Order: sequence, then structure tokens, then C-alpha cells
Amino acid sequence: MKKIDIIVPCYNEQDVLTTYYKETQAVVSGIPDCSFRYIFINDGSRDDTLIILKGMAASYDNVRYISFSRNFGKEAGMYAGLSASTGDYVIVMDADLQHPPALIPKMIESIDAGHDCCAAYRTTRKGERRIRSFFSQAFYKFNNKLTDVKMPYGAVDYRIMSRQMVNAIVSVSERQRFSKGIFSWVGFDTEWIPYENVERTLGTTKWSFRGLTRYAMDGIFSFSVVPLKVLSVMGFIIFAIAVVYALFILIRTLAVGIDAPGYASTLIILLFLGGIIELSIGITGEYIARIFTEIKHRPIYIAKESNMDNDNGCNNENNNAKGTVLKCREVTADETTHQ
Ligand code: UDP
Ligand code: MG
Repeated sequence: MKKIDIIVPCYNEQDVLTTYYKETQAVVSGIPDCSFRYIFINDGSRDDTLIILKGMAASYDNVRYISFSRNFGKEAGMYAGLSASTGDYVIVMDADLQHPPALIPKMIESIDAGHDCCAAYRTTRKGERRIRSFFSQAFYKFNNKLTDVKMPYGAVDYRIMSRQMVNAIVSVSERQRFSKGIFSWVGFDTEWIPYENVERTLGTTKWSFRGLTRYAMDGIFSFSVVPLKVLSVMGFIIFAIAVVYALFILIRTLAVGIDAPGYASTLIILLFLGGIIELSIGITGEYIARIFTEIKHRPIYIAKESNMDNDNGCNNENNNAKGTVLKCREVTADETTHQ
């Protein structure tokens, strides 16, 4: 019997959770030789997500939840789930049924056949705003060129992974997590399976344009130092041009004397260099900001409550360094007297 954990990050998903559970359960209950456990992460929802999760945990014995003290973002949610998981295989999927549960049997087959991971990508983007698809496509192209992280256009965070791969991912303890990059960075053999995009029918998307831009920047700046290299090359080219131009001006001044007008050229050069310097400081700043966040060593998430204590015992040891605090088992009176 294989144990499979399904990790589901949830932020304000009160409208979808019961439907999600029923639909997914309908698929997985038909899969032989596997036992499934759901680990829902309540990512600081402001609606009744936690109440619903608690109700589900009371009714179904394969439902676990970890509830964060505030909204830490989907990346932190996935990390919390992965580090709490103990299954032989681990599935990560969204709560909104945009990741069709019907793919799960195929994913399990793939990993049974010897792959370390089987991940889904969508072939269509029906129902998505054009502008979002456009920027998304541009991002994938740019990202695949600029970083060592290669992923197909349309890659989503819906995948199954072997225990070994999950352990590798949990060992990557950076704070600003870009999971798609980390999934690829740890290596292992991934099979990609296509699916048609499913529109969200219940609840609403949690991504604003600003949020997506930030996410795309995390993808690039966390996985590539190419922008810094471009800066130094650009700096060198500009320096070389400046030396040639300075020589030209010097020789001309010596030969024909001082040429007073030159307002336009001076201004253009000044503005051009000013722009480049600003851009350079900005890009350097992005890296410094990341160093700053990493160096503080804050936990990736803070859990306020969970019903996982019984499964994993005191989980603190596992989680203290990167995420924190699943409540410890109470020390009994008996144990205290023996100390
Ligand atoms: N999510 C989360 N924390 C957040 C934002 C989103 O846990 O801060 C979860 C959300 O509940 C859902 C998944 O991440 O299960 C994907 O979010 P969403 O459907 O809003 O993204 P989209 O499908 O539009 O990319
Ligand atoms: Mg969605």
C-alpha cells in the first residue's frame, strides 16, 4: 500500500473546498493499492476556510490542515505542506479545481513507471485575460533564456513527486521561494503531461497583476545573475565609448579650439548615462533586497494551529529552522516528575 499526500494551499477558498474534496475523492478512491491523505494549508484566509477545513477534518479521517497565522503566500503554503508530508508520493494541487483531479491516476502511473516526478502544463488558456497570457508567455521565454531553469510554457504547480524529490525540495531553504524554479533546479526526471485549461467556476483568482509581476521577478532574480553580468558588460561598453569620445574631443579642441555650442550632445549623454546608472542601481537593489531577506533567516511561514500533531508527533524539529511551530505534544505530569 503506497501512502500519497495531497497538498492543497488555500486562501479564501470557502466556496470550493467541499466540492474540491468530493471531486478529488471520487477519483482517488478508485485507485487501487494507494491510501490518500490531504494536507490543506489555510494561508491566513479571511473567510470561513478554516472553519470548513475543521469541519472536513472532523468528518473525514484523511483530512489534515495547517493554518497559518497570516497570509504568507502560496509558495509558503506549498513549502509547509511539503515539509509536513511523509507520503511515498506527494501531490501538489490548487483548491479551485483548475487542476483536474482526473489526471491523478495518470500521474501515479508515470511515477510508478520510474519517473521522479510527473507535472502538468496547460495547452490552452481559455478564459484568461489576453494581457495576462501575453505577459505570461513573454515571461516563460525570457526566463528559459536567462536562467538554467527550463520549464514549458503553461507549466503549473500541479504535480506528483517522489519522496526523494520532495526531500530535496524541502532542503532548499531559501525564503523567497519560486517553486517552479526550485522544482526544476533540484533536477530529477520529470514527465510533462498536457491538459486543457479549466476555468475557475467557484471563488475568485487571488493573483493581481502586481502580484504576478512580483512573482515573475522572483523567478528571474532568484535564479539568474545574468542581469548583473549584463550590467558589467554594459558598463564596460559605455566606458570604452566614453574613452574614444573623450580622445576625439581632446584632439579636436587641440586642433580647432573650443567649440562652445554642445548643449544637445551634453544633455543627451547626461540623460543616457543617468538612465543607465538608475537602472543599474535598481537591478543591483533587487539582489541586495533578496540578500537582506535571506540573511534575516525568518521562518518561511508561521503556523498557528494544525491537526497534524498526532500524525507526526512533535513536528518542531522538522520545521523550526525554515517554517515554524506545529504545536508540540503536551508534556504529561508523569514526564515532568522524572526530569
Ligand atoms: N493561494 C494561496 N495563497 C495565496 C494565494 C493563493 O494559498 O496568497 C492558493 C489558492 O487558494 C489556490 C492556489 O493558491 O488554491 C492558486 O490560486 P489562484 O487560483 O488564485 O491562482 P490562479 O489559478 O489564478 O493562477
Ligand atoms: Mg486558480
